[in-house]
Amino acid sequence: MNPQPFLEKRKVLERKDFGRLIDCIKAQGYTLIGPVLTETALSLGEIQKETDLPIGWTDIQEPGKFQLRRRQDEALFGYNVGFQSMKKYLFPPRQRLFSVEKKEGKLSFIPEEKPGQKYAFLGVRSCDLHAVFVQDKVFCQGRSYDPDYAQRREQSLFIVVQCGQASGCCFCLSMGCGPKAQEGFDLALTECIETKHHFFLVEIGSCRGEQIAELLPLREAKGEDLVLAQKSIENAQNQVKKNVETQGIKELFYNNWEHPRWDDVAGRCIACSTCTMVCPTCFCWTVEDSISMEGKRAERWRRWDFCYTMEFSHLPSGSVRSSIKSRYRQWLSHKFGSWIDQFGTSGCVGCGRCITWCPVGIDVTEEIAALRVKP
Ligand code: SF4
Ligand code: SF4
Repeated sequence: MNPQPFLEKRKVLERKDFGRLIDCIKAQGYTLIGPVLTETALSLGEIQKETDLPIGWTDIQEPGKFQLRRRQDEALFGYNVGFQSMKKYLFPPRQRLFSVEKKEGKLSFIPEEKPGQKYAFLGVRSCDLHAVFVQDKVFCQGRSYDPDYAQRREQSLFIVVQCGQASGCCFCLSMGCGPKAQEGFDLALTECIETKHHFFLVEIGSCRGEQIAELLPLREAKGEDLVLAQKSIENAQNQVKKNVETQGIKELFYNNWEHPRWDDVAGRCIACSTCTMVCPTCFCWTVEDSISMEGKRAERWRRWDFCYTMEFSHLPSGSVRSSIKSRYRQWLSHKFGSWIDQFGTSGCVGCGRCITWCPVGIDVTEEIAALRVKP
């Protein structure tokens, strides 16, 4: 399968000018978020200058395994996704909703200020951009509309980096979410390195992207630039080895509620919730109230919650899903099955994080394939 073509609006940014892109974004008042190295992994953090990026690093990912490695070159974006996604910023793990103060016997409710910070996300992969589209369906419409999410989302700038490689856990091709991003970004960069020439093909996807592009020393893209960029994306596409058969996947779950594979996986899953924490689309949350010792101030907080905990489905008579089997089944069948009925899309974008970061190496692609085998 050939990768999708590049947008008509495309230019070239030479590597030596990359710092100008960072400066332009920051000059427009954005807080720039991008990939950064921790001691043992790739994370997301604030980028002030190009040397904050993991230049010359890559990663090895397999079920239950993540390792950093040096590359042979000085690529700025020569790695796959780290454990964090933009979810951390657009739908924060903890957020105060409002406070209440008691003065002279009267209660005053104090709302939170609206999000003021504008984020620009640099190095966004196609799967993670699709994950934002999925969360939009949850938070930007209907009964669960979240005005704070909608505002953060609206004022965010997305600078995609088209994948030039894939990890051992990626399966974006099966989910139709990569490796090439086609729309929904402001700018998309394809990093190309050939002997001594290091440059970025820049696709311009929005008016905001165009405004930034106008401030950069870009040149016209030549035929040979496009060939190199195309090769880079083909390389990523050819490296995607995992896949999920999505034909009839919703019915697969609805018709296999008692499949013996659920007992098998329940014997391996430790219900740690890591897969839901790292998943860029999981959106469950709960509220917690706290009150000061003297009883004069109370706060209501929202925090991420996870369907792997007993408390998640606790009713007065006890937990609705008291076994790990029922909780794993709930997560997987919602993500790949009933999500489609609920939001008109799969809840999975094939980023592979839940496979890499599962401490016991449970692989959703293998679990789904096993459900297709008749007991
Ligand atoms: S279910 Fe796994 S592969 Fe799919 S989006 Fe979530 S973390 Fe990524
Ligand atoms: S599937 Fe893996 S990551 Fe998810 S809860 Fe079970 S053990 Fe934890």
